[in-house]
Amino acid sequence: MKIISDINELRDHLRGQNRASFVPTMGNLHEGHLSLMRLARQHGDPVVASIFVNRLQFGPNEDFDSYPRTMQADIDKLEKEGVYILFAPTEKDLYPQPQEYRVDPPQQLGDILEGEFRPGFFKGVCTVVLKLFSCVQPRVAVFGKKDYQQLMIVRQMASQFALPVDIVPAETIRAEDGLALSSRNIYLSASERAEAPALQRQLSAMREQVLGLKEKTVSSLLDIEANALMQMQTRGWKPDYMAIRQQRDLARPTQADLDGGQPLVIVTAAKLGKTRLIDNLEI
Ligand code: AMP
Repeated sequence: MKIISDINELRDHLRGQNRASFVPTMGNLHEGHLSLMRLARQHGDPVVASIFVNRLQFGPNEDFDSYPRTMQADIDKLEKEGVYILFAPTEKDLYPQPQEYRVDPPQQLGDILEGEFRPGFFKGVCTVVLKLFSCVQPRVAVFGKKDYQQLMIVRQMASQFALPVDIVPAETIRAEDGLALSSRNIYLSASERAEAPALQRQLSAMREQVLGLKEKTVSSLLDIEANALMQMQTRGWKPDYMAIRQQRDLARPTQADLDGGQPLVIVTAAKLGKTRLIDNLEI
């Protein structure tokens, strides 16, 4: 595997090859990331992975400085997956000047849910993803459904800018007890780690409640959300949101949407101690 930090060197290496299948990451790789590498490979060679902890998507009080950086272990894992190039730019490589041109996703998608609790997050994500796409010029790029809203926003960005890249979704990989794998799970203490699967169990319970409704109404969904928030708070969590939304646009379903059988998804973000976890479950 070639490890490249310089944009021009990356372009030199990719010249004359088939356009790559690309997996952008922030490193501290786990099985979830590696499943994306395998899926990328099925969509075509060569596979390019990137590792870049993107300052633009972190808020002032978030964990940019302490975000786990495990480059050598990550390299070993990517080697085993047959990744052709690891693009690991420094901040100077990717942002040689302050990145003043940025991509602002539409409010109705970028400022809700994650965007409400992490202002500017999706602007940072879209800006770096567009720039990475410009560096790698992939034919296919793989994103995890664990970051459900991010996947949707990147997809729509690619569509609205007519980027010549197919966005491929990958299923969420979980630990045996159901906890979605995440680089941030290493922040959890032993007792928090034991409690963490409760978030996914709550999503499953909400799903059962929705499926068990004789008649889906807007207010019955609000009751299920309120009950779930209360249950998690009782267990000592600080949930930002536990929301039943439409799969197609993450908007709240209207009664007409519910009557029309629009598919739903439950999305959540919640803090356990100092660690903020996100997850989702399609209904
Ligand atoms: P990150 O390094 O957290 O920015 O994640 C890089 C990519 O891996 C994103 O597309 C994530 O959605 C995806 N990802 C993270 N965790 C998982 C997981 N448990 N299962 C599948 N994909 C994941």
